[in-house]
Amino acid sequence: MIYLDNAATTFPKPERVTKAVLRCIEQYCGNPGRGSHPLAMAAAEQIYTCRETLSDFFGASAPERVIFTQNTTHALNLAIKGLLRHGDHILISELEHNAVRRPLGRLHADGRITYDVFPVLGLTSEEIVSSVADRIRPETRAVVCTHASNICSCVLPLAAIGALCHNKGLFLLVDGAQSAGLLPIDMQKMHVDALAVPGHKALYGIQGCGALLLSRRITLDTLIEGGSGVSSLDMQMPADPPERYEAGTLPTPAIVGLLEGVRSLCEDGDILNREQRLFAALLERLSALPQIIVYAPTYHGSVLLFNHRRSPAAEVGRLLASQGICVRTGLHCAPLAHRALSTPEGGAVRVSLGRYNTLAEMDALWRALKDE
Ligand code: PLP
Repeated sequence: MIYLDNAATTFPKPERVTKAVLRCIEQYCGNPGRGSHPLAMAAAEQIYTCRETLSDFFGASAPERVIFTQNTTHALNLAIKGLLRHGDHILISELEHNAVRRPLGRLHADGRITYDVFPVLGLTSEEIVSSVADRIRPETRAVVCTHASNICSCVLPLAAIGALCHNKGLFLLVDGAQSAGLLPIDMQKMHVDALAVPGHKALYGIQGCGALLLSRRITLDTLIEGGSGVSSLDMQMPADPPERYEAGTLPTPAIVGLLEGVRSLCEDGDILNREQRLFAALLERLSALPQIIVYAPTYHGSVLLFNHRRSPAAEVGRLLASQGICVRTGLHCAPLAHRALSTPEGGAVRVSLGRYNTLAEMDALWRALKDE
């Protein structure tokens, strides 16, 4: 089997991640923060270590400001709904995933916010920043944008957008679903106020947790309320992070997997280069096939989108699956980005690379398509 759907979730996981998760389940998985017995304390210690590790890895403000969530979507909902107030105006990019678009769509439908979309594709970094700046109004409160597209090889100039937000007094909320673990992110240097990341993609943890990292200048309303293990007499959630935002039992095994995934990345610094070399090789091979249309706004990336001129994307996906090649087809929850790239109604085929893919697998994909 050839797995080329790493943008959905990375597979396989590093062996050390699987082992750490198993060890947690078998040896010490008490309920963290809900007792002072050895198993609860052991789980709590791993969770604190993961907060520290993520905080260091992303240049965040403090371990306490690393909030564990179910996934990136949950983290983005918490950031967006917890920050925005009636009358706010927001700017989003044309590449946004439904994890950004739908929470904003809900607030917009309720008459609470307005938003504008800024273009990205085909623009230089300077032009992207100008397109953001041109749309800022007196009531604009935040820019909410993805760092890297989930359907094509497009990366937003985060540091430059962050500098603009900093100068204009706007919050910057970032969807790091496709970049966390792959592209360098330093929240403080890039002026990012909230960074949503998945545990299960390029940080190489397992499914079941994500995180929201917060700068010191941002305080959010809570999204859900419940037990936090502290201040139990109060009717309200605690005032301070992380407990303020983490009602209910945390997914300790997934957080342990995330910790081990990040540690594995710190010892394998070349993943981005390897993926970019594979991307370039695949781009060259697919571009040479006259029946294939490639949607590649840049020549570097980990996600390559294409269509067959005669077969719908879903059919190409079925053909590849029948040969043991796993790709994803359709709109990939990013309809705005598909519109910007002018893909047909059925979307397109997405190949997304991971740290374990090889050149031989790129050749196999090319062979599967070349005579179709
Ligand atoms: N944002 C982007 C850009 C994505 O690609 C995805 C998922 O693929 C998400 C958000 C949602 O991530 P999760 O499934 O972790 O909630």
